[in-house]
This record gives sequence, structure tokens and C-alpha cells, in this order.
Amino acid sequence: MPSGNAIAGDTVLAYNLFMRKVIVVGGGIAGLTAGVYAQRSGFDTLVLESNLVPGGNCTGWRRKGYFFEGGMHWLTGSSPDQMLHKVWHEVGALSGASQIINVDPFMVCVWEGAQICLYRDPAKLEEHLCAVSPEDRPLIKNLCRDIRRFIPLKMPIMDIPNLKVREKSRPALGALLNMLPALSRLIPLGKLPVKEYAARFKHPGIRLLLSGVVPPEYDTVSLMFTLADFASGDGGYIEGGSTKLSAGMAGRFAELGGVIRYGERVDRVLVKDGKAAGVIVKGEHIPADAVIVAADTLAAVDNLFDDPLRENWTRNMRRNTIPLVSTFVCMGVAADLSAWPENVLFPLKKPYEYGGVRFTDAGFYNYAAYPGYAPQGCTALTTILLGDTYDYWQAAKTQGLYKQRKEELFETIRECFEEQLPLIKGKIAVWDVATPLTYERFCGSYHGSWMTMTPPGSMRGSYPCKLKSVKNLYFAGHRMMPPGGMPVAVSSGRTAAQHLCRDFGAVF
Ligand SMILES: Cc1cc2nc3c(=O)[nH]c(=O)nc-3n(C[C@H](O)[C@H](O)[C@H](O)COP(=O)(O)OP(=O)(O)OC[C@H]3O[C@@H](n4cnc5c(N)ncnc54)[C@H](O)[C@@H]3O)c2cc1C
Repeated sequence: MPSGNAIAGDTVLAYNLFMRKVIVVGGGIAGLTAGVYAQRSGFDTLVLESNLVPGGNCTGWRRKGYFFEGGMHWLTGSSPDQMLHKVWHEVGALSGASQIINVDPFMVCVWEGAQICLYRDPAKLEEHLCAVSPEDRPLIKNLCRDIRRFIPLKMPIMDIPNLKVREKSRPALGALLNMLPALSRLIPLGKLPVKEYAARFKHPGIRLLLSGVVPPEYDTVSLMFTLADFASGDGGYIEGGSTKLSAGMAGRFAELGGVIRYGERVDRVLVKDGKAAGVIVKGEHIPADAVIVAADTLAAVDNLFDDPLRENWTRNMRRNTIPLVSTFVCMGVAADLSAWPENVLFPLKKPYEYGGVRFTDAGFYNYAAYPGYAPQGCTALTTILLGDTYDYWQAAKTQGLYKQRKEELFETIRECFEEQLPLIKGKIAVWDVATPLTYERFCGSYHGSWMTMTPPGSMRGSYPCKLKSVKNLYFAGHRMMPPGGMPVAVSSGRTAAQHLCRDFGAVF
């Protein structure tokens, strides 16, 4: 049992006799979070990360002077009004010096030469969309009313029961009461796919804009939740992007005395006498009193144990998860696109199909406004092609056509972009394609997926972060609550550390 004193603030608890050893498998957002909180609570924590850098999917990379943001586009919890904001600070993702950029309009649809803008402020959005499409006025008014209703719906950050805490975390009663107006809309909008909701609008540009915010197969609650998040001043981009955010978390963990070993892929989690007993890395047994698995849960329950884990929740996760899979294409262009909006959608004159997925529109993130993301006068562009093309890329690999298929896809995207942006013609200095196989290799994730689809009727609750059949074994990661993403990764890392603390009698 702990013998030391609990010290207020962010200092490590001084449990001299305590120092139980915890191994965290994976140094993505969930693993780093679990690591920070475990270390802060007095455990001797080792994070084993198979890559040479922290962050997992929350990453970006440099090529020939360009920086390609490969992860975060908006961060839930960037606003101080969100309970999650404090968590992002505690884990080192945000600091007092973080510059938060709230892009507005958040997205722009270019339709027949005109720009239809997704402004954050519902009043401005209503006025703008009504001017674009007066015949959609009643629907636009309802849309903006729903956005306003959803604004108070914020992700609550709670403590698990019977946990010793230094500081309780729970939403204020007033905040809970403010959420009531949105509740009546959860059932009807939860049954409606975004693409059907968007199809009600007469203006094809508004339809495209609304289908571009979250995947169009998602339920409309996800759309409203996202639009309300922007409207509340949240969903910002953090200056320095994913790599800086991940590095901040790894730095925080190290400051607290935690150790990260990079390039260390865990082959097996050892279970002895019904308890987690450590891990095997490159044939070496690293013993531990507890293990937190923060690699993609869907892949980990099958691959990291001698006997695949089969408890009700792991079975349900396997059955219910529809993985969100994408291909990421980026290019550096020797042209200044600062006159263009940051997040652009447009219909294609020539739709294309690849890997069994048909694309009738395209979009790009334009990083012209970000110093250091490209050489002077140049621009980094990225696009995310949603759709499960995992089998297509697997087949390409098997047939020795992987590189060729990447080149073909890049050519298609280049043509689409050049049609919309003639000024980039002949000016592409560098390009890259990250397929689902790239993400699978880089993050060990199931089919390279980095979130979970939430179509109407899908499971929306959270999975437990631990098992009944194995003690001292915990799980964290974006799969813990669909649709996942960084907010779920961070909150599940915190919850896993809370279970650890409760089981070992430590103060969180
Ligand atoms: C293009 C793109 C855009 C995105 N945009 C957003 C956005 O705007 N907002 C948002 O909230 N989310 C976004 N996401 C999703 C978000 O980045 C992820 O959901 C989140 O980072 C997942 O974190 P995680 O820690 O749960 O998992 P992961 O990122 O998968 O981390 C798991 C870590 O475990 C490591 N690992 C796996 N197996 C092993 C092993 N056996 N041994 C050792 N290490 C192992 C991996 O290398 C990885 O570092 C985006 C993702 C992508 C790819």
C-alpha cells in the first residue's frame, strides 16, 4: 500500500514503497495518457512503442521541406469550456503556450464557382445558407436550431466509482441540465444517416457540404455533435500539429520519470495464474505487476495473447465494430494557395472509382497559412479518401502491384486537384500515399483503421477497460467508445489508469 504523501498539483505522488511496475503497450495518445496518469499516481511505468516516434495515428511527416499533417484536423477539448481541455493539459498535449487555431469557415464547398461556407456561428451559418438557397430556408433554420441545442452536449469526464482521487472530476449539475434540450433530438437524428439528412436539402452544394463533415454513413447525431462542437468554439487545430502534440505528451511522461522504449514491438502479453505478468519483446520477458494494452484493442485481443481473449465485451467489439478505413494522399506544390480556404470540397466533373469505392467529389486540406509546413511560396495539400480499400491494397501487394497502384491513385487525385486548382499544374514537387496497409504497418491497427463507423443503430456506449478473467490487465484506445478518435483515446487512457489505481489502492 502507498506510504507516501499525496502532493497537490501535478507533482508525482511520493510512494516510496509503492513503485509497482506497469508496462503500457503502445505510445499513441491512449498509451501516453495512461502512462502519464500511472506515473503521476506513483507507478514505475514503461511504455513500449513499436515505432521510433510517439503518437501512433496522431502523426505527421516531412518530405523535401514540406510537412504533411497526417492525424489531427480538429481536436475536441481544445476549448477551455470542455472538461477534456484540462485532461489535454494534464497529459502535456496542450500547454499555456499552445496556439489554438479555430479555422472559420471550417469547411467550404465550391459549387459552380461559388463558395458555400460552413461557418461556426449558427446565426452566421443560417444567414449565409439561406442566401445561398432560399428554398431550403425551413430546413436550414431547423439545422441551426439543432446545432444550438447540441452546443451544451459536451463529453463528460468522470471518475470510476470507489477511486481515491486528489481532485474529483464530474460535470456541474447546471451543465447537465443544459444538455436536456438536445436529448429529445437524439432518437430521431440517431436513426437518420447523414446522407439521407443531407439529401433533404434542395441545393446540391449544401448537400455536399453537410455530407463532408463526418462520413455520410454516420448517424445525424454525429453530424450535429460535430457542428455544435465547432459552434461552441471547440474543435481547434493545435499549432505545430499532431507531431508537436504527441511530443508534448511524451515529454510530459518523461518529466514525471516514465520511460519510453521506442522500436520495441510487444509480441505477447504474458498471463500467469489469471494475472498479467509482463510482456515478451524480441524473445525477452519483461516482468510487470500490471499491463495496459493501448494498441488497437480490436487487433490486440486476437494477436497479443497466447489464448485470444474472449469475454462478452471483446466478442461484442469484434461483432459490432465497423472500422473506418481510409487512404491518405498528400502533395507539396510549388504554388501559393493562401487565397484558398483551408478545407475545401468540390464535385468532380469526372467521378472515379478505386478499390471498389466510387468518388463523385473530392476535397483537400490546404496548409498554405501554416508557417513551416512548406517552403516559402509553396503549399502542403492533403486529402483523406474514406472507404474500405484494405482488400484492394492487400491484393495489390500480393500481386507485386502496390507501388504501381499508388502511382495510379496519385495520378487520379492530381487530375482532380488540377481541375479545381489550375495554378498547381506542373508544380507538384513531392507526393505520398499512405494506404490502409501503411497504417496497419505503422500502428499495428486492425485493417489500418483509426476510428469506428457509427451508422444509425450502432453501439455508442463504452467498453470496459478491463477483463473479468485476467487481473491487472487494462485496455485503452480509440476503440473503447465509437466513433473513437483522439478524445476517446485520451479519456480511455485516463480510465485505464484509474482502474489500475483502484486495483492497487493508489490515489489517482
Ligand atoms: C488521417 C487521420 C486524420 C484524423 N483526424 C482526426 C481528427 O481530426 N480528430 C480526432 O479526434 N481524431 C482524428 N484521427 C483519429 C485519431 O488520430 C486516432 O483515433 C487516435 O490517435 C488513436 O489513438 P490510440 O492511442 O487509441 O491508437 P493508435 O494511434 O493506434 O496508437 C497505438 C500505438 O500502439 C503502437 N503499437 C501497436 N501495437 C504495438 C505492439 N505490439 N507493441 C508496441 N507498440 C504497439 C502503435 O505503433 C501506436 O503508436 C485521425 C486519424 C487519421 C489517420
